[in-house]
Amino acid sequence: MSAVKIRITFLGTGTSTGIPMIGCHCAVCTSSDQKDKRLRTSILVESQATTIVVDTTPDFRYQMLRMQNERLDAVLFTHPHKDHIAGLDDVRAYNFFQHKPMDVYANALTAEALKREFAYVFADKKYPGIPDINLYTIDESFFSIGDIPIQPFTVWHHKMPVYGFRVKNFTYITDANKIDEPVKEVIKGSEVIVLNALRNEHHVAHFSLKEAVSLVNELRIPEAYFTHISHQLGKHESVENQLPSNIHLAYDGLMLDV
Ligand SMILES: [Zn+2]
Ligand SMILES: [Zn+2]
Ligand SMILES: [Zn+2]
Repeated sequence: MSAVKIRITFLGTGTSTGIPMIGCHCAVCTSSDQKDKRLRTSILVESQATTIVVDTTPDFRYQMLRMQNERLDAVLFTHPHKDHIAGLDDVRAYNFFQHKPMDVYANALTAEALKREFAYVFADKKYPGIPDINLYTIDESFFSIGDIPIQPFTVWHHKMPVYGFRVKNFTYITDANKIDEPVKEVIKGSEVIVLNALRNEHHVAHFSLKEAVSLVNELRIPEAYFTHISHQLGKHESVENQLPSNIHLAYDGLMLDV
């Protein structure tokens, strides 16, 4: 393992609707606790030399403004659902002041969706000022972006393959409810894991809180943070207080040095 230091920043930790959800007056959506305000799920992965965002949510622009982020080397996508790709157009700002195309890494399924949903970006005749993107299709082979080493792997989101990523001893998984046994071997040995935990009730495409806790225990990962949280899960503070001491709910703005 290289000695490169990695910082993770949670840009958003909410499910597809975000919290508060438009029109909802539940206790979570009306909570005054800042930790109950969740933009859509995304993280920043940074070394001294390289900055990567995992997914560009509908909140991407505001997330980057909020973190005062002024440098981005690449976008890495997990899967093509709208709450993970919708903000891609706003990489234009980085094109303008970094004076170069944005490198975008996605599996074949996601790359295909990006070409469909952002057709104007990939058109032969381009309107001036649209995003300038270099799209790289990745598979589960190990690769690096700058000095950040990345091991992609596939997890299951109902029937959709989603990429999780291991960066040194940090593993990031959003939008999954099933992990194949051989993939568990890729994850084991991580010191910190991020998993999605949508709500208490079972869901067809996401781990519930209980399922996420038992997976952390099964994989014997010492430290875990849950993300992609629904307003149905409850208030941050009360859920956090019920969790084992090594397992936490993530919240927007949380930073981890891994
Ligand atoms: Zn999602
Ligand atoms: Zn609500
Ligand atoms: Zn999804």
